[in-house]
Amino acid sequence: MVENIYNQLSEHMKEIMLLGNAMGILGWDMRTYMPSEGTMQRAQQLALLSGISHERLVSEKTANLLKKSGALDLTSLQKRNLELWQRDYDQETKLSVDLVKKLTMQRSITEKLWEKAKAKSDFKMVQGELEKLVGLVKEQATALNPDKPMYDVLLDLYEKNITEAMIRTYFSELKKGVMKLLEKTRNIELNPDILKIHVSVAKQKDLSKFIIKFLDMPTKRSRLDETAHPFTTGYADDIRITTNYLEKEPMASFYSVFHEAGHGLYGLNLPKEHRWTAVGQSTSMGIHESQSRFVENIIGKNPVFLEYAIPKIKEIAPEFKKIETKDFINAVNAITPSKIRIYADEVTYNLHVILRFEIERELFAGKISVGELPQVWNTKMEEFLGIEIKDDAEGVLQDVHWYGGNLGYFPDYALGNIYNGQMLYAMEKKIPDWNDQLSIGNATNILNWLDINVHKKGFLYDPADLVKEITGELPDAKYFVKYMNEKFGKIYKL
Ligand SMILES: [Zn+2]
Repeated sequence: MVENIYNQLSEHMKEIMLLGNAMGILGWDMRTYMPSEGTMQRAQQLALLSGISHERLVSEKTANLLKKSGALDLTSLQKRNLELWQRDYDQETKLSVDLVKKLTMQRSITEKLWEKAKAKSDFKMVQGELEKLVGLVKEQATALNPDKPMYDVLLDLYEKNITEAMIRTYFSELKKGVMKLLEKTRNIELNPDILKIHVSVAKQKDLSKFIIKFLDMPTKRSRLDETAHPFTTGYADDIRITTNYLEKEPMASFYSVFHEAGHGLYGLNLPKEHRWTAVGQSTSMGIHESQSRFVENIIGKNPVFLEYAIPKIKEIAPEFKKIETKDFINAVNAITPSKIRIYADEVTYNLHVILRFEIERELFAGKISVGELPQVWNTKMEEFLGIEIKDDAEGVLQDVHWYGGNLGYFPDYALGNIYNGQMLYAMEKKIPDWNDQLSIGNATNILNWLDINVHKKGFLYDPADLVKEITGELPDAKYFVKYMNEKFGKIYKL
């Protein structure tokens, strides 16, 4: 009886996951190879599939199976699945059909208008629609859990059981560490632009192949294709990563392949025995970012790896031949405050995220209004990075997230850094000579460590608990700060 009801639930939830997986692949196709006039047709296909998936999830059948399974004597693993499935069900059923429709509509209206407002660099154009959207997002948070602060409810959607108070603690240490390091490197002459040279797309594709091979990505279970804004999707035996080749900026695709491959490896290594169950999924957005950033920054931008890789890069793309190894390494690791988050270096990137977190939390606490966003943004940019923002396009309009209704999402980018710094020192205890291994082009043990300790854990734990399981401690930003200081202290001889 136990097995019967639980298995029925498991099979039912597997089909919902398969629908989600199919939508992911259709979305991938839309952003890679679909002919441009296929948009409407694809939108209809996706709307139909998401409708079917929603109906199945909120159905009487799901409710019954969840209820009956709850009364069974389950194993701890089955209990974990049940808890996560219940969470999915609750999130989908607590919102009224009316609110979901309004939100979906308002998201696309605001996002479309954001594109125009950004092109004209005029926040006022989109302010009214953004106010409506933020109002609906607040309604959404209250509907999901009226007993918790709104911002905590939103954060939980992306990072289960991580609260504003926890993030405030992590980010205050992170901010202090970054500001201190920034102070020390402020007057050092850096030239990241020496790597902005013309390299043909064909050669850049060969560089991508070099990375895929170096990381030992299984090519029969994954693909690399081109898109405008790189992303990763897929599941189990079919993972799709993407990149964007810019002829005058070859390192952009080089590191986006590293980054997306980090996401891809996580997806490929998820525990096979739990496939198509809740536990067989990744833990959270933040843990996902920890993996992509580990592979991109801790491995890919590591000076010892670069010393090994640069001769190979030069073989593939002789355009780099004139650049000295030391200058190459320094250019990859140049700390140079920029206005735009996505172009930021490994260190100042954190400040871009903390700025957005501070604004979001004040917005949901009612301390600032939507109309004040540009002013608050510009003041904080000046305070954090000493940069003067001249217009909205390079300020508050630069990222799509808020205008697409994704509030509470930004912190995950910096949480990823905090997690991976901490993971690094746990790994170092097991692989003390990891740098020596990397210097001869061997990342096997490092990647195995990530596989066993992070990827294979699936969604067995909430993010903070997973970090504790791996490192023995709850998340703590001091490790990432230590990593930054050690790495850049060596590069800049501080
Ligand atoms: Zn990412």
